[in-house]
Amino acid sequence: MWGLLRDSGLKQSLTAALLVLVVGGALAAWKMTSKTVPALRIKEVPLLELAHRHPPFQEFPESFPLQVAVLWTSPATSPENPLALVHSLKEMGIPFFFTRDLEQALRHRLVILYPNVDSDTLNQAQAEQLTTFVRQGGSIFAQNVFWGGLQPLFGFRSFAPSRKRYHLAFSATNDPVMKYLNRPEERETRLGSGHYPEIIWSNGYVPNSGTDVLAYFDDGTAALLANPVGRGRVYLLGLSLADVVLRSQNNHDYEAERHYVNAFEPGADVWLLILRAWYEAYAKDWVRLSTISGGQRSALLLSHDVDWENSFAPGLDFARIERTNQANSTFFVQTKYVDDANSNAFFFESNLKILREMKSGGSSIGSHSIIHSRGFNKFELGSGHETYGSYRPRGLGFDTASGATVFGEVRVSKELLDGEIPGQDTIFFRAGHLRVPNSLPEALERSGYQFDSSFTADDVLSNFPFLLPRDLGFEEDSEIYEFPVTIEDEAPPGFAKRVPQALAVILANAENGAVSVVLVHSNESHLKADAEQDLLRQLPTDIVKTDMLSFARFWRARDRLQWSVSATSIPTEIVLQMTSEGSVNGLTFEFQRPISTIIGDAALSPDNHHVVLPELKPGQRVSLRVRYLR
Ligand SMILES: [Zn+2]
Repeated sequence: MWGLLRDSGLKQSLTAALLVLVVGGALAAWKMTSKTVPALRIKEVPLLELAHRHPPFQEFPESFPLQVAVLWTSPATSPENPLALVHSLKEMGIPFFFTRDLEQALRHRLVILYPNVDSDTLNQAQAEQLTTFVRQGGSIFAQNVFWGGLQPLFGFRSFAPSRKRYHLAFSATNDPVMKYLNRPEERETRLGSGHYPEIIWSNGYVPNSGTDVLAYFDDGTAALLANPVGRGRVYLLGLSLADVVLRSQNNHDYEAERHYVNAFEPGADVWLLILRAWYEAYAKDWVRLSTISGGQRSALLLSHDVDWENSFAPGLDFARIERTNQANSTFFVQTKYVDDANSNAFFFESNLKILREMKSGGSSIGSHSIIHSRGFNKFELGSGHETYGSYRPRGLGFDTASGATVFGEVRVSKELLDGEIPGQDTIFFRAGHLRVPNSLPEALERSGYQFDSSFTADDVLSNFPFLLPRDLGFEEDSEIYEFPVTIEDEAPPGFAKRVPQALAVILANAENGAVSVVLVHSNESHLKADAEQDLLRQLPTDIVKTDMLSFARFWRARDRLQWSVSATSIPTEIVLQMTSEGSVNGLTFEFQRPISTIIGDAALSPDNHHVVLPELKPGQRVSLRVRYLR
């Protein structure tokens, strides 16, 4: 069974799947007489402890003037945490630090007040300090300011909280923070489905005259204000990033997505793009860590799901076709070693031989679970001691199973892939049917995985990779990076007939520096392989074609990079320093000012605005002197 789609509106593919089920079930009953499992080699998977993160003040300290200052306004006893803002700024490559000290924050040119400002946050003298800061050219981005003492600075008369605002529309203004919101899907977003009587909290503002309204809620109140004050400008958002970014990413939104898969859905990304545009508009001589490697514009991440007995051999065809098109892909393999109601076992020697050939040919391999249950999202976590010798899961029907756990599906599939394929270390996972249990991040982390691709990009409203929060909650990040699926092959009328639509989505993401993940099941290598080749050949040359694992490794090293910019005695020269935790190739920095020369080991792009680093070794420290053209 290779279905991934939700029940809604896809009766055709469900009917086909049910037919396969009936046949498969009969075969399974016939084979069930033999209860033995094949003798497969395993590599032991140690059970790791969860590491806990430091508070944001320790994790993100002040280190250079260009950093955006985040003034953390929540009392120490509050359960509020900065995950949503950390995700937004880090994904955009914007440098920042956290502080509780207003004086320290105001020594930087850009300040974010987070997560809100009420009557206990600041005193009148501090409100005046903020106002003076903006008059002299500083910029503030704030969300949920309730305190009357800041009404004149942010330019509002009143506000009304509500959980019944469902839409947001950006108004056509030429404000610089709107720079990246050019498409219709970006000019309007959905905050939740009307099926819910109440959704996320919003604060609708009533602006003063002279205050610009950049976005309106459906009840006509203002969602985003911009107020000019002296030489500076302040922005106020009537929503919480925890609701519009993090709640989308952990899939706890009120069905804010307008599509499930195969469409452009930037509902969470718009807030990241606004912060990026804000930084680029107001920081002086800004420098940003690019989202893509090698000075390229975007990346197409190719993957295949191998989740049927006849999906192995065609996989080799895909691998070959991709190589002739200078591309590569990641194969997510179902390690089905038991017969059950859904299918016979197929993780045996003739197929293992194909996997070894894929691996030695340069393809990468991830896990696609063992029994590929549609009920995976309801499985118990398990003990973490599940192992091939004793783990005997069985699908009882399409979404029911016995003897199966989240740990079992994640760990035992890794034991087998690592044991049977030379040189394999399985660190990428994709759930069957893209069904995600809340405990998945924990099971993956504790089993030594680093990456997951079990959501769709439309469903999480995000086209940038992100850290999955533990328990898919709001409190703490796991160490697992999520790469959601943008384009898949099964929804009618099938991938072969949707290439132009897929290309349009990929180009929309490329405009934002976001990535697109393509999933093609390798159950046949004729129509689908032709379509994939067609797509690859039409792809602009500044979009990298890569397997998922290579890009995921780049993204992880990028996310963990420590970097800083410091001034020199020469006004047209700066020093860019970085320390990479992992091995990484092609890290790219974007500069506001055009560059004339770089002193150090790095390449300058033809546009003079991007610096591309060569391969860095783990722990390597690099220092570059960058000389501006003017
Ligand atoms: Zn599958």
